[in-house]
Amino acid sequence: DQDVVEYRNNLAIRVSGFDVPRPIKSFEDCGFSVELMKAIGKQAYVKPTPIQCQALPIVLSGRDIIGIAKTGSGKTASFVLPMVVHIMDQPELQKEEGPIGVICAPTRELAHQIYLEAKKFSKAHGIRVAAVYGGMSKLDQFKELKAGCEVVVATPGRLIDMIKMKALTMLRTTYLVLDEADRMFDLGFEPQIRSIVGQIRPDRQTLLFSATMPRKVEKLAREILSDPVRVTVGEVG
Ligand code: ADP
Ligand code: MG
Repeated sequence: DQDVVEYRNNLAIRVSGFDVPRPIKSFEDCGFSVELMKAIGKQAYVKPTPIQCQALPIVLSGRDIIGIAKTGSGKTASFVLPMVVHIMDQPELQKEEGPIGVICAPTRELAHQIYLEAKKFSKAHGIRVAAVYGGMSKLDQFKELKAGCEVVVATPGRLIDMIKMKALTMLRTTYLVLDEADRMFDLGFEPQIRSIVGQIRPDRQTLLFSATMPRKVEKLAREILSDPVRVTVGEVG
């Protein structure tokens, strides 16, 4: 078990877990497709942020991850970019239905931001992203899901509604992201999260991001992640 703490630009970066992939220094180190590199360039992301340097190679290697870093540190790209690679790696993309990637976030606003970021990086590969949160009629969402998608970005409550309406199944979901897990717990979504996770195959890759790790979130992480690498990026204090 490694537990490495590195200090860079006033940040303390702690990484723990077995056989942890080495951090990358630039996006070129990730082996991304030309299309994905172009999309990254369009965002003017010159170099990866500290959480991205650590998380990208870990997630790209297929490992589960617990990512702890404050707001604004660039967590979204660290799960969206490897998700695109994960989806493109699926052998028979067209055979089954339902999302391959499921991303849960606590609020409509946060889910919408992730949706926009996911779309930017998915477009070049023809990956369809569906938004499943309040503010849109359930019928429109139902239709969008029925039309097919590879990624769903959702708030837990609305995703449960859509599952109940049989708008989607998660039989082929192999990439699950719980973003801002602490806030989802604060908002009382623990039962919905547990229900969603319980419907996704156990051989999935699971990513959990949070600004803090209260005991209840820690307990969930122990239950639903397998052999995760933990990356904590924090101020030196
Ligand atoms: P978090 O989820 O950790 O709060 P976000 O993923 O929302 O952070 O990113 C915060 C901001 O930083 C966004 O505006 C995003 O576009 C930008 N950003 C992300 N990665 C990079 C990067 N490598 N270089 C420059 N800006 C970035
Ligand atoms: Mg975020």
